[in-house]
Amino acid sequence: MDKPGCVVVVGDLMLDVLFVPEQGLFVRAGGSAANVALTLASEGRPVTVVGRTGPDPNGRFLRETLAAASVELPVSPAMERATGFSVMHRHGAADRVAYVERGANRCLESDAVGPPANLARVLDGAAWLHVSAYGLLEPGPGAVARGLARAARDRGIPISVDAGVPQAFPGLAADAGLDLLRLGLDPGPDFLILSEPMSDHLGYPAAQRAAAPRRGFGCAVVTGGSSGAWVDGERLGLDGEIDHPDADVSGAGDAFVGGFIAAGLGGAGPREAARLANRMAARYVAAGPGWRRVACQEAPVLVSACLFDTASAYDGEARPRPAELGDGDPTFRLYLPVCPEQAGGLTTPRPPAEIRTTGGGAAVIAGRASVVTRDGRDVTPAFLKGARRVAELARATGATWAILKEGSPSCGATRVDDGTFSGRKVPGEGVTVAALRRMGVSVSPGE
Ligand code: SF4
Repeated sequence: MDKPGCVVVVGDLMLDVLFVPEQGLFVRAGGSAANVALTLASEGRPVTVVGRTGPDPNGRFLRETLAAASVELPVSPAMERATGFSVMHRHGAADRVAYVERGANRCLESDAVGPPANLARVLDGAAWLHVSAYGLLEPGPGAVARGLARAARDRGIPISVDAGVPQAFPGLAADAGLDLLRLGLDPGPDFLILSEPMSDHLGYPAAQRAAAPRRGFGCAVVTGGSSGAWVDGERLGLDGEIDHPDADVSGAGDAFVGGFIAAGLGGAGPREAARLANRMAARYVAAGPGWRRVACQEAPVLVSACLFDTASAYDGEARPRPAELGDGDPTFRLYLPVCPEQAGGLTTPRPPAEIRTTGGGAAVIAGRASVVTRDGRDVTPAFLKGARRVAELARATGATWAILKEGSPSCGATRVDDGTFSGRKVPGEGVTVAALRRMGVSVSPGE
């Protein structure tokens, strides 16, 4: 783990999925941590990412992409959660996020890099620690980021934190948000990097950016896309430096962050680093960043996570991958793994549950049947919430086909348990299957 001059990046690893009208479907290794890491690697910087994929083929694609760029990933895959993904649509020159599933990113825990001492060892030889804020509200990822920040401060390593976007922190007040971003440090990290929407949300509104207060951070940097950036209140323009001033391309903010860190490590002060980072982001937008066209351009197929190598089933196990999924390579055909019961908020492992009384998933949706665990707990709301999330994903992707685990009270396509926990199956469909079929999605049983 000892790489002199290395940048350690803590944050999300996602499969990014992009729909471009008249061009089709594209994927790439994404998420804030991967984007920043790949930008830094392209500048020749050694990088280590502390982030988590799942065990599925999408996670394998991410890990292979990072390895090909010589980015180190010392964190083992989370076996019980599929790799996270983000679905975007391009409208004009702007990418709009339609769906986010954080997946395995939620499972970042300090023991994912081995014994406790290993986490601090990630910083051996490090010259900079960068934290992306998306997981800070979650217990595991938040603790990992704060632990690394404390260790970095003790060693005198500069720390930057990227505040992310307001949608990732629903209901979080400005003061609580700033407190979160201080990572438990006093004073807070050396550099706070904010997008314009997040700066508005956290109380650095546009009208006052000319006097952006530091508020306990060493330096506040507000990124403004084609209008440049503000560093501690001073505007550093990009005027005339980019070809497409309206472009709002996913990952451009992360390219700015990567450029800022690379310039800082090269000896630039914050203002000069922001100027160089602006140019890096502009180049990134012009280059069309790293997308791979999916060979099969049909709509993504939704697949039960437990059929896609992920141990998401109630007993903490995976189920055999059906032959029709092949090796699952997302650049050939895109499969998006979903576990409705996890999406509904249930843990893994969890008590088995069955649909009680007749009518299957459709009756549960209609309020005429419930889903209960073997010990009698009513988990209907969680099953309905999970079904709604999967239906939202189908809408966001235009999916017309799903391959879901046969026999499950969520995913069963032709049969489910009879509600007596006796192992007897009856004809019927799970709650998520009923929701998908209502929208015209065809569901095949995966065995
Ligand atoms: S059958 Fe469906 S709900 Fe159950 S573990 Fe698999 S994906 Fe999750």
